[in-house]
Amino acid sequence: MPGTSGRVTKARLQRLSGWFGGDVITAGSKGYDDARRVWNAMYDRRPALVLRPAGAADVATAIRFGREHDLAIAIKSGAHSAAGHSSIDDGLVIDLSLMRGVTVDPIARTARVNGGALLGEMDIAAQAYGLVCPVGVIGHTGVAGLTLGGGIGRLQRHYGLTIDSLRAVELVTADGRTVRATEADEPDLFWGLRGAGPNFGVATAFEFDLHPFGPLLHRGLAIYRGSQVRDVWAMVDEYGRAAPEAVALIMAIARAEPAEEYPPSVAGEPIVLVAYNHSGDAAAVEADTAPLRAGPEPVSLTSGSQPYLEVQTANDLAMGWGHRSWILGSYADDLRPDVLDALVDHVADAPTGASISASLQGSAMARFA
Ligand SMILES: Cc1cc2nc3c(=O)[nH]c(=O)nc-3n(C[C@H](O)[C@H](O)[C@H](O)COP(=O)(O)OP(=O)(O)OC[C@H]3O[C@@H](n4cnc5c(N)ncnc54)[C@H](O)[C@@H]3O)c2cc1C
Repeated sequence: MPGTSGRVTKARLQRLSGWFGGDVITAGSKGYDDARRVWNAMYDRRPALVLRPAGAADVATAIRFGREHDLAIAIKSGAHSAAGHSSIDDGLVIDLSLMRGVTVDPIARTARVNGGALLGEMDIAAQAYGLVCPVGVIGHTGVAGLTLGGGIGRLQRHYGLTIDSLRAVELVTADGRTVRATEADEPDLFWGLRGAGPNFGVATAFEFDLHPFGPLLHRGLAIYRGSQVRDVWAMVDEYGRAAPEAVALIMAIARAEPAEEYPPSVAGEPIVLVAYNHSGDAAAVEADTAPLRAGPEPVSLTSGSQPYLEVQTANDLAMGWGHRSWILGSYADDLRPDVLDALVDHVADAPTGASISASLQGSAMARFA
């Protein structure tokens, strides 16, 4: 029938609407095109049905409905899967966007986060009490997808991966059970959820430990010419091997565009950027980052302190929905000089917006099992 898959009849949808508390959206519904969108515009999929649960009971209903009608299921929280995994042609999308919301217990220093919440909600709720959970760097990313994959960002070398602060996950499993997984209850499931999380069911809520932090993050940015890449890497590599845990460091190779935002000597040319975030004491920043100023001469150098919440949303617009995006990540112990040269040559010819970056891992991220 028009607007639904052959397996989902109008009568069955009407019955579902009777006991489903959230939204039921098919190809014939108003809002279908909005409901099927994901962050990455490379993926333009047409699900048979989008269900937006209002709570955990609706999630169980949605899973049961999908199974009974033999529909492949995609789960959508923040919709930021770069590979488009939160939508599916002809299947069922369980979209948790009605299940946002974060509650902080400032005494216990914990947060309860609903399955559809975004990072920005959690950052704001926690910072209201001078607390933080280390999450990602773009406020409109989903807590669910990020956490279930591990979670890296600006504070992880100091406080560990997002999953290192995770204490509990409430989940409706693929076979319809509602479970609460912690170190003590369902420990194997809890272990699997911390990194391979999207494979076990729909997470309806998370509980995190929070850490005293903020409100300021101390930051610095140096810009070098592309031709300095070998010397810059040598400095970054040496610094990274013994960097203080409060320092997060990223080196990027990109083109200086839009040209008017860069010094004229490099505008439009390949550049190397070295940026740090220092999440410790302001008094320690100067000494902790001194080796980063002892390397090659930068074209420009800026530093200062900024409210953490401001930093966390600074790139939200630039990284907004609707762009066609291709992202690939990997781990490396070192980069050979000829690889560095090739990367600079590559960004010189690449489409606008292309960049290659290396983030320092380790420290608290490596201390947890
Ligand atoms: C602009 C941008 C910035 C990013 N920044 C960072 C960053 O700083 N740090 C970082 O670690 N990662 C980052 N990522 C990667 C991001 O964390 C992952 O793509 C993550 O999976 C997105 O989660 P989501 O809920 O927004 O996405 P979705 O597309 O909704 O979901 C992603 C995956 O998780 C599954 N899933 C979603 N919700 C649930 C749920 N409730 N229960 C079970 N499975 C679920 C989906 O099925 C899908 O496979 C970024 C991605 C983008 C596009």
